[in-house]
Amino acid sequence: MSRVAIVTGGTRGIGAAISKGLKDAGYTVAATYAGNTEAAEKFSAETGISVFKWDVADPKACEAGIAQVTEELGPVEVLVNNAGITRDGWFHKMDYDQWSAVMKTNLDSMFTMSRPVLDGMRERGAGRIINISSINGQKGQIGQTNYSAAKAGVIGFTKALAQETARKGITVNCICPGYIDTDMVAAVPEKVLESIIGQIPVGRLGKAEEIAGMVCYLASSAAAFVTGSVMTINGAQYVAN
Ligand code: NDP
Repeated sequence: MSRVAIVTGGTRGIGAAISKGLKDAGYTVAATYAGNTEAAEKFSAETGISVFKWDVADPKACEAGIAQVTEELGPVEVLVNNAGITRDGWFHKMDYDQWSAVMKTNLDSMFTMSRPVLDGMRERGAGRIINISSINGQKGQIGQTNYSAAKAGVIGFTKALAQETARKGITVNCICPGYIDTDMVAAVPEKVLESIIGQIPVGRLGKAEEIAGMVCYLASSAAAFVTGSVMTINGAQYVAN
């Protein structure tokens, strides 16, 4: 039977690199996306990876989408909760829609995606959940109270669920990338980006493949004892413990 991995937001940026990495590691990958069908179809044609469209913030859509993947590809062994958005702005100017969109996509998705796969993982006594948080969930970032709060929530969620599932052969970990060269970072104004790169001791942005490498390790049997961990990958920009 094929070993199935779902990567949310797996058609672009970091998620696309994760999808490709897991495919190369032998998984049958389901890459999900929100609405950019053109990019998703191009990605699928180039890689042969199956793509599925649903909103990770919609609980019913997640249940239905996961059921479809299970029926078409097989039970989900690895879930990578990668989909995320930013809606930046200083808090005193932020409206509720900016707050709530980021909370729903970046934090509620931990529930909407993980809850439907968990029963199967518990029954089979095996599973991997890998959550993509952020450096800004560790240190907080001006202009990103919503994003920083959601990503810090991802870390707390990871640590709690890891303890709940440890005896069931399921590991739950999260990765905190620093600034990675994707569309999300391309949206940052050039001057701000220059100053950010100046704060990265390694002297460059990270690459999506550098995050994918850690995901593949965490998905592997070599990482069976790694659970509840927060993996920091940021070129030493923020040295957290
Ligand atoms: P991109 O903006 O490049 O890609 C985002 C992906 O997520 C796309 O596939 C997009 O689908 C999908 N997506 C967005 N919203 C939803 C939704 N509601 N439902 C389903 N899919 C959705 O993002 P990155 O690759 O830069 O970021 C990936 C993750 O890494 C995010 O969680 C981000 O917060 C985190 N991160 C990124 C950093 C960076 O420097 N880039 C740094 C630290 C963390 P579609 O193509 O249809 O829009």
